[in-house]
Amino acid sequence: MGPPGSGKGTQGMRLAQHFGIEHISVGDLLRDEVDSGTELGKHVAATMERGELVPDDVVTEMVTPHVARAAAKGGFILDGYPRTLTQAVSARQEADSLNVEADVVVWLDVSPHTLIKRLAERATEEDRPDDTAETISRRLQVYEEATRPLLDYYQGRGLLVTVGAEDDPEHVHAAVVAAIHGKLGD
Ligand code: ADP
Repeated sequence: MGPPGSGKGTQGMRLAQHFGIEHISVGDLLRDEVDSGTELGKHVAATMERGELVPDDVVTEMVTPHVARAAAKGGFILDGYPRTLTQAVSARQEADSLNVEADVVVWLDVSPHTLIKRLAERATEEDRPDDTAETISRRLQVYEEATRPLLDYYQGRGLLVTVGAEDDPEHVHAAVVAAIHGKLGD
């Protein structure tokens, strides 16, 4: 978990490779739906472009089958979900019914200054429709309001590790792997 621009996608991919498990990026899944022009994609495109969150039930319904499949194959890194308390509660219910458990929640901690810089850079590199100046500030605001409260939620469940993620991807990856091993006690 972490704010937009914290490196969830990059680190998620590397972690999945490192542990030989699947990387499930909810943002990528949603963008695939939009690009393929599915009903779901048409339903969420405008919301995403504004930098708002897609409705909780839509996201949970979309992501759960991916989690079930990946869990059956040996595990997963879930990137970009849950992002609200409602999603976190649903995620737990779904996980219970699938007999799946979260081992650790990694929080990528980055200063607002770095986030804005990274998102502006990504805007020129990737041409994502939600990386405009206006949308970036809305996404950071949505994150503060809807997602940051999950810090306390996962702290309370004893799952949280916070990793400073200002450094380059290589160093952050090493720090995340170390933090996960530390948390799992292996
Ligand atoms: P970032 O974290 O950099 O904003 P993502 O690719 O994770 O990028 O998400 C892009 C957009 O997809 C979000 O702004 C939001 O509209 C939508 N989205 C992704 N994950 C969720 C989620 N769990 N709940 C609701 N909307 C989501």
